[in-house]
Amino acid sequence: MKASIPPLFLLAAVSAIAFSVFAGDTKVTPERARELLQNQNEQFERKVVQVSENVYTAVGFHGANTSMIVGDDGIIIVDTLRGPLSARMALNAFREYTDKPVKAILYTHSHGDHIGGASAFVGKGKPDIYATEGFGSAEGVNKAVDPVKRLRNIRQFGRDLPADQIINRGVAPGNTNDTDGGKGFVAPTIRISEDGHKETIAGVDLEFYLAPGETDDAMFIWLPEEKVLFSGDNFYHAFPNLYAIRGTAYRDVLKWSESVGRMAEFAPEHLVPGHTLPISGQEAATTPLKNYSEAIRSVYDQTVEGINAGKSPDQLAHEVELPEHLREKPYLLQFYGTVPHAVRAIYAGLLGWFDGNPATLNPMEPKAKAQKVAELAGGTEKLTAQMNAALEKEDFQWALELSDHLKWLDNADRKLAREVKIAALRGLAEKEYNAPNRNYYLSYANELESGQLSEVWF
Ligand SMILES: [Zn+2]
Repeated sequence: MKASIPPLFLLAAVSAIAFSVFAGDTKVTPERARELLQNQNEQFERKVVQVSENVYTAVGFHGANTSMIVGDDGIIIVDTLRGPLSARMALNAFREYTDKPVKAILYTHSHGDHIGGASAFVGKGKPDIYATEGFGSAEGVNKAVDPVKRLRNIRQFGRDLPADQIINRGVAPGNTNDTDGGKGFVAPTIRISEDGHKETIAGVDLEFYLAPGETDDAMFIWLPEEKVLFSGDNFYHAFPNLYAIRGTAYRDVLKWSESVGRMAEFAPEHLVPGHTLPISGQEAATTPLKNYSEAIRSVYDQTVEGINAGKSPDQLAHEVELPEHLREKPYLLQFYGTVPHAVRAIYAGLLGWFDGNPATLNPMEPKAKAQKVAELAGGTEKLTAQMNAALEKEDFQWALELSDHLKWLDNADRKLAREVKIAALRGLAEKEYNAPNRNYYLSYANELESGQLSEVWF
């Protein structure tokens, strides 16, 4: 009877197996992880895409995109990359199409990869520079912990990883020239308020709308004539980074969902994201915005429901999933943000660190706990054997957690525990298709191995 199975059914079964791994976390086989990440690289291959008659987007010249809108007597630039070197290269590429002067520059939000190259576009002219009223608020927070944020940023983006270890950064190429980061920043001259703004620049009608999301100071830009929408970083081809492991203040997840939902109402013919390739065709450009908004909202709602049912962030991080009809959408695969991290961020954002369980109100200090765990295992040697066995069985997370206990014990082989931690981190990384997770694991392992991490970190 085998031969009677219709081929279509077989195909469906294969694709279900291929994608079932995306339901919860971001672990797949090492081969699949590599394949998925390598496929994602197509999203930022260096080129200029003609989006519509008068809109061009330079992709892959740095981490983010920069776009050119061609008007009657000048051009308008949307976002400027991270530094003037890459911005100049993008401008040169735009110059293949027109030599009209730059009339205006628009910043979708204040993240460094969108504003640091402006001087290359300003040239000798005096273009107006548009941004929101709250521009800069995103970088104003957490200044006190800059030293640690820098370190975590290097790990998340794999900035120090050798070429054979980095594949990409989820929504950006793995290697970018950052030597001139921020050097070309030019301050905004015109601020967009809550009411939005409409203006004709170089004969092009433009509309600006506030759109809090990845940052509080974000806006999106709408070109009614050609129906082009510039989303900034509230949309790109990956599950949104509702929390960044480099360390960020709470990103307002609910507003993010609402902002993307509002974009969908414009039913754009063309969608130009802050990172990854532009999308054309009304259905192709509008449906992802609707689904993105729904996905974010769903993660938020499930988390809130779980919180009110008394569940902890640890539990919820393993329970909350994308709705079934959205799981396989290519632009919702967790190359950049992850659902579990989003859940934890929402929990902490709404309630702070305490999970409501009195057992976690004043937990033991790590060393005292490690001693108790060793006692429970039957001694430090037995605990060490458990750690080794976990590594052997490729139970990498457990090996990692046990090595973290052993590091506190004076009678433990701490060198061995460190080696196991390095191996476990690399084991975890291999199965990760989420770029920040993968890059963080690999970077940390390299830092441990080279001895550049202080005892505090191990
Ligand atoms: Zn960006």
